[in-house]
Amino acid sequence: MDIGKIGVVGAGQMGNGIAHVFALAGFGVVLNDLNQDQLDKGLATIQRNMERQVARGKITAEDEEKALARIQPTLSVNDFADVDLAIEAATENEDTKVKIFENLCPVLKSDALIATNTSSISITRLASSTDRPEQFIGLHFMNPVPVMKLVEIIRGIATSEDTFKTGYDIISKLDKTVAVSEDFPAFIVNRILLPMINEAVYTLYEGVGGVEAIDTAMRLGANHPMGPLQLADFIGLDTCLSIMQVLNEGLADTKYRPCPLLTKYVEAGWLGRKTGRGFYDYRGETPEPTR
Ligand code: NAD
Repeated sequence: MDIGKIGVVGAGQMGNGIAHVFALAGFGVVLNDLNQDQLDKGLATIQRNMERQVARGKITAEDEEKALARIQPTLSVNDFADVDLAIEAATENEDTKVKIFENLCPVLKSDALIATNTSSISITRLASSTDRPEQFIGLHFMNPVPVMKLVEIIRGIATSEDTFKTGYDIISKLDKTVAVSEDFPAFIVNRILLPMINEAVYTLYEGVGGVEAIDTAMRLGANHPMGPLQLADFIGLDTCLSIMQVLNEGLADTKYRPCPLLTKYVEAGWLGRKTGRGFYDYRGETPEPTR
Protein backbone atom coordinates (compact mmCIF):
# COMPACT_ATOMS: atom_id res chain seq x y z
CA MET A 1 0.00 0.00 0.00
CA ASP A 2 1.17 3.54 -0.75
CA ILE A 3 1.37 5.73 2.32
CA GLY A 4 1.24 9.51 1.78
CA LYS A 5 -0.37 10.92 4.88
CA ILE A 6 0.11 9.95 8.51
CA GLY A 7 -2.00 10.66 11.57
CA VAL A 8 -0.33 10.65 14.99
CA VAL A 9 -2.38 10.40 18.20
CA GLY A 10 -0.49 11.88 21.17
CA ALA A 11 1.92 14.80 20.88
CA GLY A 12 4.08 13.85 23.88
CA GLN A 13 7.75 12.84 23.79
CA MET A 14 7.17 10.03 21.29
CA GLY A 15 4.27 11.44 19.25
CA ASN A 16 6.07 14.69 18.48
CA GLY A 17 9.23 12.75 17.57
CA ILE A 18 7.26 10.51 15.21
CA ALA A 19 5.59 13.54 13.60
CA HIS A 20 9.06 15.15 13.29
CA VAL A 21 10.67 12.26 11.36
CA PHE A 22 7.69 11.66 9.05
CA ALA A 23 7.37 15.38 8.20
CA LEU A 24 11.10 15.58 7.41
CA ALA A 25 10.77 12.51 5.18
CA GLY A 26 8.10 14.35 3.15
CA PHE A 27 4.88 12.86 4.55
CA GLY A 28 1.87 14.98 5.44
CA VAL A 29 1.20 14.64 9.18
CA VAL A 30 -1.88 15.31 11.29
CA LEU A 31 -0.94 15.51 14.97
CA ASN A 32 -3.60 15.08 17.65
CA ASP A 33 -3.65 15.49 21.43
CA LEU A 34 -6.21 16.06 24.17
CA ASN A 35 -5.68 19.77 24.68
CA GLN A 36 -4.11 22.81 23.04
CA ASP A 37 -1.41 23.05 25.67
CA GLN A 38 -0.05 19.56 24.90
CA LEU A 39 -0.23 20.27 21.16
CA ASP A 40 1.62 23.57 21.55
CA LYS A 41 4.30 21.90 23.67
CA GLY A 42 4.67 19.12 21.09
CA LEU A 43 5.02 21.55 18.19
CA ALA A 44 7.51 23.70 20.13
CA THR A 45 9.60 20.58 20.80
CA ILE A 46 9.57 19.65 17.12
CA GLN A 47 10.70 23.13 16.15
CA ARG A 48 13.45 23.19 18.81
CA ASN A 49 14.74 19.77 17.76
CA MET A 50 14.72 20.68 14.07
CA GLU A 51 16.59 23.90 14.84
CA ARG A 52 19.21 21.81 16.60
CA GLN A 53 19.50 19.62 13.49
CA VAL A 54 19.94 22.75 11.33
CA ALA A 55 22.65 24.06 13.68
CA ARG A 56 24.48 20.71 13.38
CA GLY A 57 24.22 20.78 9.58
CA LYS A 58 22.06 17.63 9.46
CA ILE A 59 19.19 19.42 7.67
CA THR A 60 18.82 22.84 6.02
CA ALA A 61 16.66 25.73 7.24
CA GLU A 62 14.53 25.12 4.14
CA ASP A 63 14.04 21.44 5.09
CA GLU A 64 12.89 22.60 8.51
CA GLU A 65 10.47 25.17 7.13
CA LYS A 66 8.93 22.68 4.69
CA ALA A 67 8.66 19.94 7.31
CA LEU A 68 6.98 22.22 9.86
CA ALA A 69 4.47 23.30 7.19
CA ARG A 70 3.58 19.61 6.63
CA ILE A 71 2.40 19.18 10.24
CA GLN A 72 -1.24 19.97 10.92
CA PRO A 73 -2.10 20.05 14.64
CA THR A 74 -5.64 19.10 15.63
CA LEU A 75 -7.72 18.47 18.74
CA SER A 76 -10.07 16.13 16.84
CA VAL A 77 -9.42 12.72 15.31
CA ASN A 78 -12.13 13.64 12.78
CA ASP A 79 -9.22 15.18 10.87
CA PHE A 80 -7.82 11.66 10.34
CA ALA A 81 -10.38 10.86 7.59
CA ASP A 82 -7.79 11.00 4.79
CA VAL A 83 -4.73 9.50 6.51
CA ASP A 84 -3.27 6.26 5.14
CA LEU A 85 -1.64 5.28 8.43
CA ALA A 86 -2.68 6.29 11.95
CA ILE A 87 0.01 5.87 14.61
CA GLU A 88 -1.15 5.79 18.22
CA ALA A 89 1.48 7.24 20.58
CA ALA A 90 -0.65 8.19 23.59
CA THR A 91 -0.06 7.38 27.27
CA GLU A 92 0.96 3.77 28.04
CA ASN A 93 -2.42 2.64 29.34
CA GLU A 94 -4.48 -0.07 27.68
CA ASP A 95 -7.89 1.51 28.39
CA THR A 96 -6.72 4.83 26.98
CA LYS A 97 -5.48 3.17 23.82
CA VAL A 98 -8.64 1.09 23.35
CA LYS A 99 -10.81 4.21 23.70
CA ILE A 100 -8.67 5.99 21.12
CA PHE A 101 -9.18 3.13 18.63
CA GLU A 102 -12.94 3.17 19.30
CA ASN A 103 -13.07 6.85 18.31
CA LEU A 104 -10.61 6.49 15.47
CA CYS A 105 -11.92 3.47 13.56
CA PRO A 106 -15.23 4.97 12.36
CA VAL A 107 -13.34 8.02 11.02
CA LEU A 108 -10.55 6.21 9.15
CA LYS A 109 -10.70 5.10 5.49
CA SER A 110 -11.46 1.38 5.28
CA ASP A 111 -8.01 0.63 3.84
CA ALA A 112 -6.09 2.79 6.32
CA LEU A 113 -3.58 1.01 8.54
CA ILE A 114 -3.29 1.48 12.30
CA ALA A 115 -0.01 1.24 14.18
CA THR A 116 0.66 1.52 17.88
CA ASN A 117 3.87 2.73 19.47
CA THR A 118 3.13 0.87 22.70
CA SER A 119 6.24 -0.17 24.64
CA SER A 120 4.78 -3.32 26.07
CA ILE A 121 1.06 -3.98 25.56
CA SER A 122 -0.05 -6.96 23.44
CA ILE A 123 -0.41 -5.97 19.77
CA THR A 124 -2.85 -8.85 19.26
CA ARG A 125 -5.10 -7.62 22.08
CA LEU A 126 -5.00 -3.98 20.93
CA ALA A 127 -5.66 -5.10 17.33
CA SER A 128 -8.69 -7.10 18.41
CA SER A 129 -10.23 -3.94 19.89
CA THR A 130 -10.31 -2.42 16.37
CA ASP A 131 -12.41 -3.16 13.30
CA ARG A 132 -9.26 -4.13 11.32
CA PRO A 133 -6.88 -6.55 13.10
CA GLU A 134 -5.31 -7.52 9.72
CA GLN A 135 -4.37 -3.88 9.14
CA PHE A 136 -2.92 -3.35 12.62
CA ILE A 137 0.78 -3.47 13.54
CA GLY A 138 3.23 -2.49 16.28
CA LEU A 139 5.79 0.13 15.19
CA HIS A 140 7.88 0.73 18.30
CA PHE A 141 10.04 3.81 17.88
CA MET A 142 12.84 4.60 20.35
CA ASN A 143 13.30 7.81 22.32
CA PRO A 144 14.39 10.38 21.07
CA VAL A 145 12.83 9.41 17.75
CA PRO A 146 14.84 11.78 15.49
CA VAL A 147 18.11 10.38 16.90
CA MET A 148 17.54 6.69 17.55
CA LYS A 149 18.05 4.38 14.58
CA LEU A 150 15.96 1.41 15.69
CA VAL A 151 12.27 0.64 15.22
CA GLU A 152 10.88 -2.67 16.46
CA ILE A 153 8.12 -4.09 14.27
CA ILE A 154 5.65 -6.41 15.92
CA ARG A 155 2.95 -8.41 14.17
CA GLY A 156 -0.24 -9.29 15.99
CA ILE A 157 -1.58 -12.76 15.34
CA ALA A 158 -3.90 -11.38 12.61
CA THR A 159 -1.52 -8.83 11.01
CA SER A 160 -1.47 -9.44 7.25
CA GLU A 161 1.69 -9.84 5.23
CA ASP A 162 0.74 -6.69 3.24
CA THR A 163 0.47 -4.64 6.44
CA PHE A 164 3.81 -6.00 7.65
CA LYS A 165 5.49 -5.18 4.33
CA THR A 166 4.04 -1.66 4.26
CA GLY A 167 5.23 -1.09 7.83
CA TYR A 168 8.69 -2.39 6.98
CA ASP A 169 8.96 -0.22 3.85
CA ILE A 170 7.88 2.93 5.61
CA ILE A 171 10.46 2.50 8.36
CA SER A 172 13.15 2.07 5.70
CA LYS A 173 12.00 5.36 4.12
CA LEU A 174 12.72 7.05 7.45
CA ASP A 175 16.28 5.73 7.22
CA LYS A 176 15.83 3.62 10.32
CA THR A 177 16.69 -0.01 10.99
CA VAL A 178 14.09 -2.63 11.82
CA ALA A 179 14.26 -5.40 14.42
CA VAL A 180 11.31 -7.77 14.14
CA SER A 181 9.92 -8.97 17.46
CA GLU A 182 7.28 -11.54 18.28
CA ASP A 183 4.27 -10.26 20.19
CA PHE A 184 5.27 -11.02 23.79
CA PRO A 185 5.18 -8.54 26.70
CA ALA A 186 7.53 -5.57 26.16
CA PHE A 187 8.96 -7.13 22.94
CA ILE A 188 12.80 -7.23 22.73
CA VAL A 189 14.34 -3.94 23.84
CA ASN A 190 12.16 -3.31 26.89
CA ARG A 191 12.08 -6.98 27.92
CA ILE A 192 15.82 -6.62 28.48
CA LEU A 193 16.13 -2.92 29.38
CA LEU A 194 13.31 -2.43 31.88
CA PRO A 195 14.23 -5.25 34.28
CA MET A 196 17.69 -3.64 34.43
CA ILE A 197 16.18 -0.23 35.24
CA ASN A 198 13.85 -1.84 37.81
CA GLU A 199 16.86 -3.57 39.39
CA ALA A 200 18.65 -0.21 39.58
CA VAL A 201 15.63 1.17 41.47
CA TYR A 202 15.77 -1.85 43.84
CA THR A 203 19.49 -1.15 44.33
CA LEU A 204 18.54 2.38 45.38
CA TYR A 205 15.56 1.16 47.48
CA GLU A 206 17.73 -1.29 49.40
CA GLY A 207 20.37 1.35 50.01
CA VAL A 208 23.12 -0.42 48.13
CA GLY A 209 23.97 2.92 46.53
CA GLY A 210 22.62 6.43 46.04
CA VAL A 211 21.35 7.78 42.71
CA GLU A 212 24.73 9.16 41.64
CA ALA A 213 26.69 6.08 42.72
CA ILE A 214 24.36 3.76 40.77
CA ASP A 215 24.46 5.87 37.60
CA THR A 216 28.21 6.43 37.78
CA ALA A 217 28.77 2.73 38.38
CA MET A 218 26.83 1.73 35.27
CA ARG A 219 28.19 4.54 33.08
CA LEU A 220 31.83 3.92 33.88
CA GLY A 221 31.66 0.29 34.96
CA ALA A 222 29.48 -1.07 32.17
CA ASN A 223 30.22 1.65 29.61
CA HIS A 224 26.56 2.62 29.27
CA PRO A 225 26.08 6.10 27.77
CA MET A 226 23.53 6.96 30.50
CA GLY A 227 23.04 5.59 34.00
CA PRO A 228 19.88 3.49 34.49
CA LEU A 229 18.17 6.05 36.76
CA GLN A 230 19.01 8.90 34.40
CA LEU A 231 17.58 6.76 31.59
CA ALA A 232 14.44 6.00 33.62
CA ASP A 233 13.86 9.75 34.06
CA PHE A 234 14.35 10.19 30.34
CA ILE A 235 11.83 7.46 29.44
CA GLY A 236 9.28 8.66 32.04
CA LEU A 237 8.75 6.82 35.34
CA ASP A 238 5.03 6.28 34.58
CA THR A 239 5.98 4.53 31.34
CA CYS A 240 8.66 2.47 33.16
CA LEU A 241 6.13 1.37 35.79
CA SER A 242 3.50 0.49 33.18
CA ILE A 243 6.00 -1.66 31.28
CA MET A 244 7.03 -3.49 34.48
CA GLN A 245 3.36 -4.11 35.28
CA VAL A 246 2.78 -5.56 31.82
CA LEU A 247 5.86 -7.82 32.21
CA ASN A 248 4.77 -8.86 35.69
CA GLU A 249 1.21 -9.66 34.67
CA GLY A 250 2.03 -11.05 31.24
CA LEU A 251 4.87 -13.36 32.25
CA ALA A 252 3.81 -14.08 35.85
CA ASP A 253 7.37 -14.36 37.12
CA THR A 254 8.23 -12.54 40.38
CA LYS A 255 11.49 -11.33 38.87
CA TYR A 256 9.41 -8.66 37.08
CA ARG A 257 7.87 -7.25 40.29
CA PRO A 258 7.93 -3.42 39.99
CA CYS A 259 10.05 -1.88 42.74
CA PRO A 260 7.83 -0.16 45.37
CA LEU A 261 10.09 2.89 45.18
CA LEU A 262 9.29 3.24 41.46
CA THR A 263 5.58 3.13 42.32
CA LYS A 264 6.13 5.77 45.01
CA TYR A 265 7.81 8.20 42.60
CA VAL A 266 4.94 7.76 40.13
CA GLU A 267 2.36 8.29 42.88
CA ALA A 268 4.15 11.53 43.79
CA GLY A 269 3.84 12.69 40.18
CA TRP A 270 7.66 12.71 39.94
CA LEU A 271 7.72 11.21 36.46
CA GLY A 272 11.22 12.25 35.40
CA ARG A 273 12.32 14.93 32.96
CA LYS A 274 8.86 15.56 31.56
CA THR A 275 7.55 16.76 34.95
CA GLY A 276 10.81 18.38 36.12
CA ARG A 277 11.54 15.81 38.83
CA GLY A 278 12.24 12.09 39.11
CA PHE A 279 15.38 10.39 40.37
CA TYR A 280 16.93 13.77 39.60
CA ASP A 281 15.49 17.26 40.12
CA TYR A 282 15.73 19.17 36.82
CA ARG A 283 14.33 22.47 38.01
CA GLY A 284 17.69 24.11 38.71
CA GLU A 285 20.77 24.75 36.55
CA THR A 286 22.06 21.19 36.81
CA PRO A 287 20.16 17.98 37.66
CA GLU A 288 20.37 17.17 41.38
CA PRO A 289 19.80 13.62 42.70
CA THR A 290 16.62 13.32 44.77
CA ARG A 291 18.13 10.51 46.91
P1 NAD B 1 4.01 11.25 27.11
O1 NAD B 1 3.42 11.22 28.47
O2 NAD B 1 5.18 12.12 26.83
O3 NAD B 1 2.88 11.62 26.02
C1 NAD B 1 1.63 11.01 25.95
C2 NAD B 1 0.69 11.99 25.27
O4 NAD B 1 -0.54 11.31 24.96
C3 NAD B 1 0.34 13.19 26.15
O5 NAD B 1 0.61 14.39 25.45
C4 NAD B 1 -1.15 13.00 26.41
O6 NAD B 1 -1.87 14.22 26.53
C5 NAD B 1 -1.57 12.25 25.14
N1 NAD B 1 -2.84 11.55 25.26
C6 NAD B 1 -3.32 10.81 26.30
N2 NAD B 1 -4.56 10.35 26.02
C7 NAD B 1 -4.87 10.80 24.78
C8 NAD B 1 -6.03 10.69 23.95
N3 NAD B 1 -7.10 10.03 24.34
N4 NAD B 1 -6.01 11.29 22.74
C9 NAD B 1 -4.92 12.01 22.33
N5 NAD B 1 -3.81 12.16 23.07
C10 NAD B 1 -3.78 11.57 24.29
O7 NAD B 1 4.34 9.72 26.77
P2 NAD B 1 5.39 9.16 25.68
O8 NAD B 1 6.70 8.93 26.34
O9 NAD B 1 5.31 10.00 24.45
O10 NAD B 1 4.76 7.72 25.39
C11 NAD B 1 3.74 7.55 24.43
C12 NAD B 1 3.72 6.09 23.99
O11 NAD B 1 4.99 5.74 23.42
C13 NAD B 1 3.46 5.09 25.12
O12 NAD B 1 2.71 4.02 24.61
C14 NAD B 1 4.88 4.66 25.48
O13 NAD B 1 4.92 3.39 26.08
C15 NAD B 1 5.52 4.63 24.11
N6 NAD B 1 6.99 4.73 24.10
C16 NAD B 1 7.63 5.54 25.00
C17 NAD B 1 9.02 5.61 24.97
C18 NAD B 1 9.77 6.52 25.93
O14 NAD B 1 10.99 6.37 26.06
N7 NAD B 1 9.11 7.45 26.59
C19 NAD B 1 9.74 4.88 24.01
C20 NAD B 1 9.05 4.09 23.10
C21 NAD B 1 7.66 4.01 23.15
